[in-house]
Amino acid sequence: EDPYLEVEDLKVHFSTEDGIVKAVDGLTFSVKRGVTLGIVGESGSGKSVTSLTVLGLHSPNNTDISGSIRVGGTDIVSASAETVRRMRGKDMSMIFQDPLTALHPYYSIGRQIVESYQVHHDVSKKVAWARAVEMLDRVGIPQPDKRAKQYPHEFSGGMRQRAMIAMSLVNNPNLIIADEPTTALDVTVQAQILDLLEDLQREFNSAIILITHDLGVVSQVADDVLVMYGGRCVEHGTVEEVLRHSQHPYTLGLLNSVPTLHGDASHDLHPIPGNPPSLLNVPRGCAFHPRCEHAMNDGGPCDTQRPELLPVTGSPVHLAACHLSDDKRRMIRQAKDGS
Ligand code: SF4
Ligand code: MG
Repeated sequence: EDPYLEVEDLKVHFSTEDGIVKAVDGLTFSVKRGVTLGIVGESGSGKSVTSLTVLGLHSPNNTDISGSIRVGGTDIVSASAETVRRMRGKDMSMIFQDPLTALHPYYSIGRQIVESYQVHHDVSKKVAWARAVEMLDRVGIPQPDKRAKQYPHEFSGGMRQRAMIAMSLVNNPNLIIADEPTTALDVTVQAQILDLLEDLQREFNSAIILITHDLGVVSQVADDVLVMYGGRCVEHGTVEEVLRHSQHPYTLGLLNSVPTLHGDASHDLHPIPGNPPSLLNVPRGCAFHPRCEHAMNDGGPCDTQRPELLPVTGSPVHLAACHLSDDKRRMIRQAKDGS
């Protein structure tokens, strides 16, 4: 089966008064139906720009997009605005971090879901309303026929997130992009929403991209993971490979900076020193070299040569972009596990 989403050498560059912002700089990945890809990185890594570009939400003004983004075989980059508009909501859909940016305060929840449905289905309002109620029920909202008549402010944060998921999924999209969908929610509700997404994925066999800064969320629900830094991919593979056998010092740094994924609550947190680079001025060589404690600078390759994204020795499902040798990477991993 072909991947439903295939992104190849995607570049998204914005011209600004200060220069060119290379928000995404040569990204390649694919997602099959039924698979969840986690895209991880700090803010400013290019992960959200990637998702907006896949959905065709960037205005072409002062934005230079190259490469290709095939969604169900149609290339979003070269397709007409009209084609992309017709696909959005139906073939691919977005779940935002903050439902209030997606939900209109003055219309009832039901009406908003009805409108999303009627954009793509020539049905009566009555049929669309029944569909909206069905979706609210499906995402676990109690008394959905009553709740459909209420307004966003009458919903709790978790219920609003469920309502937005109902709206995003009302047309059964094959590709769902969820951008930090649970960041604003408390841990219990967060777990419920992630479970809900998994259930819906099983039911509809959709491809999901989950954008997050949280490796805990990734380990919980993703199948594959792509780690972004400075607009590029630094490590990519199955969750098992990337999180258990991390190759890139940046990935290891992220793992060290989150509460442990394996139930050891006593583990010390070590935030990565320094800040992510400005996308206006990504460091040459390896973009991570100013922050990397293993960097080989001043004559080594790290501050001059950009490391290529290459298959990790011995694994068919793992890529990394780092100049370190296999031996050195293993030593770093072992030192981390022992700490
Ligand atoms: Fe660190 Fe060099 Fe590897 Fe970049 S290429 S992550 S600077 S060791
Ligand atoms: Mg899954």
